[in-house]
Amino acid sequence: MNNSAELYARSKLVTPGGVHSPVRSLQSVNEHPLFIDSAFGSQIIDVDGNSYTDYCMAFGPLILGHSDPDIHRAVSAALDNGWSYGTAEGTSLTLAELICGSIPWVESVRFVSSGTEAVMSALRLARAATGRDKVLKFSGCYHGHTDAMLIDSGSGLAETTTAGSAGITEGVLKDTLVAPLNNPDALRHIFAEHGNEIAAVIIEPLPANYGLLPQTDEFLQLLRSLSNTHNSVLIFDEVITGFRFGFRGYAEVCGVTPDLVTYGKVIGGGFPVGAFGGKREIMELTAPLGPMYQAGTMSANPIAMQAGLATLEILLNCDIYTELEEKGAYLSKQIENPAVHVQQKGSLFWLCASPAAKTIRSIDAIPDGIKTNYADLFQHCLKKGIYLPPSAYEVGFLSAAHGEAELKALAESINSFSL
Ligand code: PMP
Repeated sequence: MNNSAELYARSKLVTPGGVHSPVRSLQSVNEHPLFIDSAFGSQIIDVDGNSYTDYCMAFGPLILGHSDPDIHRAVSAALDNGWSYGTAEGTSLTLAELICGSIPWVESVRFVSSGTEAVMSALRLARAATGRDKVLKFSGCYHGHTDAMLIDSGSGLAETTTAGSAGITEGVLKDTLVAPLNNPDALRHIFAEHGNEIAAVIIEPLPANYGLLPQTDEFLQLLRSLSNTHNSVLIFDEVITGFRFGFRGYAEVCGVTPDLVTYGKVIGGGFPVGAFGGKREIMELTAPLGPMYQAGTMSANPIAMQAGLATLEILLNCDIYTELEEKGAYLSKQIENPAVHVQQKGSLFWLCASPAAKTIRSIDAIPDGIKTNYADLFQHCLKKGIYLPPSAYEVGFLSAAHGEAELKALAESINSFSL
């Protein structure tokens, strides 16, 4: 038995499924979890001493790569001053000023500790702002694990429909409306029927939790105009895309301005940070100023804030985005295996393990059988020292630390795969 297998056997005795987040079990690719010991640049090294080029990259926060030296320095220096005050402090102020000063539609921001928390708070805020109960989401979009957001969700719940989880009340189901992606008629129909009851519409402007399902700009514009007409709050969940598609995220790319936006992942540079922000008049309904209560012992933790600040300063000041765009385009061009359809935008890519004739934009257009095929592809690449996202529906992430030779090796590995 190798060390990962031994740790897994022990872990199962003390933790459900042996892991602290379901996709880490590698169950959906018919593997056992790898126990990672250390990670540098593009590489992760497991407890058995095997190195892998990592394309999962902790599911998104590590845009600069693992153990980036600038982040390391910022965090180490911050530790010298203590690591939790439960008071106001200056680092979160600097980070908030940086964000509000660079993203026009974020006039005010509140930090939390995860993407889930950010979404939960933004939805409650939208309800407070409108006095309405219902929330509209899209099937296949994942927004963290609050009750309502697990209905017709993606990520570890890709492939399940309706409630997606046990423990969700009838009340939550009643107040959650679900629309298909990329379907203007269905959207118009739902708004015609329920528009005046909808507090918030939430979408990943570039859905990336059920594969990568780019929406047309027109669809996102329609969402904006229907939200305006019905006075519903439009929330862009940019937990994956925020600070990854240029500093202003995907809202800038698609040219549609949300009322509220949620962040996670890159904003904390690999430490636990989330945020919700947006229009001042809505944000100021948040306690202590307004009636919408939201709080957190760990919110704006000074160490996590330093990691986020160091990351965002690098992203603002160095031209990493052009480089990431080029790497993404290079990778998708190099992959020439007819059995693997690649959908790529910037530094995100999805390996859809089945032929497809055109861009897939909604979950009903995903070919059958990709789960089994992808499990084989994952194992094929793992044997070649490449760690892909461990599910057919999770996207791959490129970082500043991935070099051309590594991308070439990934493409070659995929090109040598056959079913
Ligand atoms: N929203 C989106 C778009 C996400 O991709 C995720 C996590 N993958 C979340 C929300 C939840 O974030 P967290 O896991 O930090 O709670």
